[in-house]
Amino acid sequence: MFDSLSAKFSDAFSALRKKGKIKSGDVDEIVEEIRTALVDSDVALDVAEKFAGIIKDRALAELEQVNRGTNPSQAVFEIVNQELVTILGGSARRIRMAKKGPTVIMLTGLQGAGKTSLAGKLAFYLKSQGNTPLLVASDLQRPNAVTQLQQVGSDVGVPVFAPEPGNGVGNPIEVAKAGRKFAEDKFHNFVIVDTAGRLGVDSTLMEEAAAIRDAVTPDEILFVVDAMVGQDAVRTAEAFLQGVGFDAVVLTKLDGDARGGAALSIVTRTGRPIMFAATGEKPKDFDLFYPDRMASRILGLGDVQTLAEQAKAAFDPQVSQKLEEKFAAGDDFTLVDFLDQMQAIKKMGSMSKMLGMLPGMNSGAMKKQLDNFDESELVRTEAIVRSMTPQERVNVKILNGSRRARIAKGSGRSVSEVNTLVDRFVGAQKMMRQLRNGGGLPGMPGMKGMPAIPGMPGAGIGKPGGKGQQPPKKKSKSGNPAKRAASS
Ligand code: GDP
Repeated sequence: MFDSLSAKFSDAFSALRKKGKIKSGDVDEIVEEIRTALVDSDVALDVAEKFAGIIKDRALAELEQVNRGTNPSQAVFEIVNQELVTILGGSARRIRMAKKGPTVIMLTGLQGAGKTSLAGKLAFYLKSQGNTPLLVASDLQRPNAVTQLQQVGSDVGVPVFAPEPGNGVGNPIEVAKAGRKFAEDKFHNFVIVDTAGRLGVDSTLMEEAAAIRDAVTPDEILFVVDAMVGQDAVRTAEAFLQGVGFDAVVLTKLDGDARGGAALSIVTRTGRPIMFAATGEKPKDFDLFYPDRMASRILGLGDVQTLAEQAKAAFDPQVSQKLEEKFAAGDDFTLVDFLDQMQAIKKMGSMSKMLGMLPGMNSGAMKKQLDNFDESELVRTEAIVRSMTPQERVNVKILNGSRRARIAKGSGRSVSEVNTLVDRFVGAQKMMRQLRNGGGLPGMPGMKGMPAIPGMPGAGIGKPGGKGQQPPKKKSKSGNPAKRAASS
């Protein structure tokens, strides 16, 4: 998502950075580049023009002040960042809770937008915060929608109110009403009503959704939209706003390679903020939508906050504590620690998703490397480490030729792969010592217990033995993008 936009913004700003003082002609130039980049990324023309106009007005109005500072191009960049946050909705929008009784959330949107999956993700999210949600199956239209919701509910351990079989049978308005009553009786504090979509906007769909809305008086109506759809999503959003009304938008399939401009257009055209974003098919692939973090990603600044939050959730505090103490005491990071870290990284999802959140990762060459990142490399690395004895994991220095041959055989890898891993690990250990002396992990604020990442053996981009697999040399540019970003 937003990859091409991000790459174009990055090109435009690298040209601006070469200038000293900024002239009004330079502002015109960057504004035009921003406008074109937005249009190319599927942002509606009027929205792109409005945004470009705002940037131009602000930059010109503040030009004197911009040029008085020590870094004029950075000041323009900051204006774009601030306006991007605004166009994406300002600050994160939280769920508005009911004053009395359960908070009712109604999901609307076209068929295939991801409502049913979203219902499960939202239920999982609410449950993990100590709530007691109930899912209500009011999509009685789409084949198997009821059974899908029952499956989703059982996957995340949330009960599903589904008195009707669906597939065209049953009254969705009655089900929604009864579902709300059931939640009140059983003291559920959230009700999530899944409603039917259609392949396109039609009046039957709108009437049914409006009737469900009137029957359950939701505290929040969320319009669920597939971010991959492009410009059409904006028209659909406008039709839903008019026909049913909604309070906020949920973007799904942000993990796809859509250009993403529709998201920006929807906020501007409907005046409704984006509340949640779904980034995959699993229940945990879901989070609040943070406009500032998204703006950071678009501008190539990465999303270190999300990365830090995910790390905090995935890393066992005891293991992290132990590691920190070790680190502070001056003990070496070992392959045993490395295995612990690997388990946490697995919990966080894919390595490329994680690395993609680091600054500078979404631009040009780095992005290409990330796309080519071979996730199975981690599996191979783990297999090699697991084939070592506990003693070898603690002290790699004892790994002589015959031990290495045994490990290669045990893990089904070649001796040269074992050598590469050991070399990289020794390099990482060395870097850890340097970090300890310098204090802290550059570019990774608050990421306690994450020291494995900057120099992680096996985390090199590319194939074993490729450029990315070289052990880090002092002062040289690393082949590991995480490390490069962290040290820049
Ligand atoms: P509904 O008709 O609106 O209820 O749509 P579904 O919830 O059935 O979703 C349609 C398809 O999109 C399903 O195959 C989902 O697994 C998939 N899907 C939903 N959300 C996401 C997402 O965030 N990322 C990806 N990759 N797929 C998703």
